[in-house]
Amino acid sequence: MPTAHKSPKTPATPDRESLLTMARVAAQQAYAPHSKFRVGATVVVRTARGPRIVTGANVENASYGLALCAERAALAAACALPDAIRPTERFARMATAPEISHVALACIDAPADASLASRMPCGACRQWFAELAPHATYYVDGHPRNLTLADLLPDAFQLEPNAERPTDDTSASQPTR
Ligand SMILES: [Zn+2]
Repeated sequence: MPTAHKSPKTPATPDRESLLTMARVAAQQAYAPHSKFRVGATVVVRTARGPRIVTGANVENASYGLALCAERAALAAACALPDAIRPTERFARMATAPEISHVALACIDAPADASLASRMPCGACRQWFAELAPHATYYVDGHPRNLTLADLLPDAFQLEPNAERPTDDTSASQPTR
């Protein structure tokens, strides 16, 4: 069976273990004085020059509800990447979400015998995944299986269910001013 020749200039996406390792390293920079539960996340963004990796760590606040999860910190950084490939241009003056192929997360303070549930992303992050990384492969440190959005958030709420899918139906295009 012939093998495809890949350009040496285009870096490959790191494998599962490498992405999880990056998430563990990112978690070491977490600001988590209240929970003392450090989490790191790795997000792989598609760019014209190959996959680009951004990381995030959780940032807590004395007003607990204002804490930011590692997953959302990394996704926000991914959105800010100027060279990210963005699948559609629905609004002339607004960038659309970047193409995200993989998300990895690691809770480095979870005890070795911690339940799987305590290592999984929270509901708020899953809703962010539904909007920003619906086609990503998800790696959760300690979870034996690679996951999809359907595993994490089946029947996810979406304001526009087909917003990310371009259509040939020109009547569906946005009005211009
Ligand atoms: Zn979260």
